Amino acid sequence: MNEFPQVRPEQPYAYEAPVSQVLFDRAAVVTPGGVNSPVRAFRAVGGTPRFMVSGTGPYLTDADGREYVDLVCSWGPMILGHAHPEVIAAVQDAVARGTSFGTPGEGEVALAEEIVARVEPVEQVRLVSSGTEATMSAIRLARGFTGRAKVIKFAGCYHGHVDALLAAAGSGLATFGLPDTPGVTGAQAGDTIVLPYNDLEAVHAAFHAHPGEIACVITEASPGNMGVVPPQPGFNAGLKAACEKNGALFISDEVMTGFRTSKAGWYGIDGVKADLLTFGKVMGGGFPAAAFGGRADVMAHLAPAGPVYQAGTLSGNPVATAAGLAQLRLMDDAAYEKVDAVSAEIRGLVGAALTKEGVAHRLQVAGNMFSVFFTDREVRDYDGAKAQESFRFTAFFHSLLSQGVYLPPSAFESWFVSTALDSAAIERVAAALPAAARAAAEATE
Ligand SMILES: *Cc1c(COP(=O)(O)O)cnc(C)c1O
Repeated sequence: MNEFPQVRPEQPYAYEAPVSQVLFDRAAVVTPGGVNSPVRAFRAVGGTPRFMVSGTGPYLTDADGREYVDLVCSWGPMILGHAHPEVIAAVQDAVARGTSFGTPGEGEVALAEEIVARVEPVEQVRLVSSGTEATMSAIRLARGFTGRAKVIKFAGCYHGHVDALLAAAGSGLATFGLPDTPGVTGAQAGDTIVLPYNDLEAVHAAFHAHPGEIACVITEASPGNMGVVPPQPGFNAGLKAACEKNGALFISDEVMTGFRTSKAGWYGIDGVKADLLTFGKVMGGGFPAAAFGGRADVMAHLAPAGPVYQAGTLSGNPVATAAGLAQLRLMDDAAYEKVDAVSAEIRGLVGAALTKEGVAHRLQVAGNMFSVFFTDREVRDYDGAKAQESFRFTAFFHSLLSQGVYLPPSAFESWFVSTALDSAAIERVAAALPAAARAAAEATE
């Protein structure tokens, strides 16, 4: 949970979305804040969240009948765009045979084989239903395997809403985590050491201060949850080396980057072999499927092979695994080339539009993931991300939204593209950018 600035309610963004507004009002009666995941509520940008009713290829349609070019892709999963016919066919075929058996099934074996074949450090994998479950289970396994309690994480990295990982850094370097939210106890956060991202010295100092106590280091393989802040050259390799030297496990959280930034995720780009990796998003094809895996000798500690308990009623669900497998099989080399090219094209358009209006910005890139920071400095960590002029993003976002381009409703999120973004969809983005860049230039705090 990252604490980013939120728009004050009095800030006027009166774009018309009357049906969405009625739905949002209804939702607010029966659901806290009207949403089932906080960022959907548009609190960082203000205005009425759009209730979507359908998606086709690169487009989403909302309850008011407006169409948007989708640059969120369900926060990453929809890498082939919406309702890809082959994925839909696989889902229909699976669903017609029943939706859950609570027994092993061939689909989950095939999905595990696909993951193991793609990501070399993954010798064995366990399927779960969300990225949160994957990171939570990987941490438990690391603690069970090493017999140690403490965990190093980095400020600005998000690993789902795992209690131990909802810790914010106290003041000063290498302090113990303080609960980031009510409901997480000091004890749950107290074994978490929160360090600044991209700071290997801080990692070495933490290992030095706690000899034999650190079970693992967990990091986003390339962070996308404070905006896109890639690891500096050698950072991940340095983490891996520090873990190896100190008897800790290195956990690379690839829930966002996995099967998105390349066939083998971020591992396919930087080649640093983590002991454990976590996956989600793309591998579920739009269904709740996630996974954690890695070294066979570590995974052997997991029940029922070993003593570390982990389970799930819907783990390896046949419909979810069918969707995930169909999507991964369609994501071949040509598909990754396509999604990388689309990303580069859109980045080029965004950069040119902002430059033309004299708006200070940095486009930061990790494979085909990217985000725009409204600052002229390179962003290397969470403090750098927070130093941007996010009020400019708010104006930029609303201008694009009103013109039918759907961005993540926060300046601190990656944009996600799909293979479905064809020239007509990209043309719509290009046509909307000049006014959006002007709005960003004219924005005041
Ligand atoms: C999305 C995300 C998670 C959490 O996944 P959920 O399926 O939302 O629980 C964990 N880690 C990273 C890096 C993520 O981007």
